[in-house]
Amino acid sequence: KVKEKGKNGYLYFNEDMIKALNEKAKIEILLREAIRENNFKLVYQPQISLITGKTVGFEALLRMKNNEYSPDVFIPVAEELGTIVAIGRWVANEVIKQIASWQKDGLDVKPVAINFSPRQLNDRGFHKYLKDLLLEYNVSTDFIEIEVTENILIDNIDEALNYLNKFKELNISMALDDFGTGFSSINYLSSLPISKVKLDKSVIWRYLKENKEDVIKTIIQLSNCFDLTLVAEGIEDKSTAQILKHCGCEIVQGYYYSKPVDSETVKEMIDKTYS
Ligand code: C2E
Ligand code: MG
Ligand code: MG
Ligand code: MG
Repeated sequence: KVKEKGKNGYLYFNEDMIKALNEKAKIEILLREAIRENNFKLVYQPQISLITGKTVGFEALLRMKNNEYSPDVFIPVAEELGTIVAIGRWVANEVIKQIASWQKDGLDVKPVAINFSPRQLNDRGFHKYLKDLLLEYNVSTDFIEIEVTENILIDNIDEALNYLNKFKELNISMALDDFGTGFSSINYLSSLPISKVKLDKSVIWRYLKENKEDVIKTIIQLSNCFDLTLVAEGIEDKSTAQILKHCGCEIVQGYYYSKPVDSETVKEMIDKTYS
């Protein structure tokens, strides 16, 4: 129960609720402003192969230019407002434009993952939008990847699967993000048209802290049973990287290697080999 009626029958809000409302209202204003004035930017975090030490891909992560709000905070608001649809298109456009620009610079560009929110299922024209962008910028579908979470299946599984299969038809690969934070049914691993599973940082941190690396190892093996590559997130130090390597993990992403960086910095690290 969020609101309660007082003795006199008036609805009242407590201080925490007002604070929360103000915060949300503030974010709404910042989001609308960012959309109007193009005040978004993308940062890119490398994904590293534990086998070769090379960067095998990047994840594009959204930021607002004029404030420090985390996407963990503003994306849910954008989802609620529905503006995530326009934002999602902006992100796709920016990523593809960026890939074309890196390629023009002669760089050995790696695939870039784009986060896709469940609300974007409403964007029926998104596949065509992507396809047209890739054609316009002459970028191969191999260079983009779509990250979805299991929440995408919440409302209507068949409709969602139908939507996701259209990415597959375009030859765009998909990853299941935030694995281990929700219900994480084995069923998702076999029924989604994905090629990767991203094990959430909270899962890694929790089981390493509890000295239960066998749990992580088993999740990796389970993923491999379905021919899925497991990407471990939130690798912040060398020992975690080593443990994951022992667990059979192929790809890692985390501050130990690099925080998300701007597109200029990507140029300097694209060919870097990590030991
Ligand atoms: P995500 O897709 O699971 O992205 C991974 C998040 O973990 C990123 O946070 C990344 O900076 C952070 N991270 C990676 N390695 C480490 C590490 O070693 N330590 C710590 N402490 N954090 C690490 P970020 O950029 O704040 O994004 C948070 C979430 O916001 C993302 O989680 C994603 O769900 C959402 N998001 C970000 N950009 C977009 C976007 O363009 N579209 C949509 N729909 N969602 C986005
Ligand atoms: Mg992601
Ligand atoms: Mg993730
Ligand atoms: Mg996440």
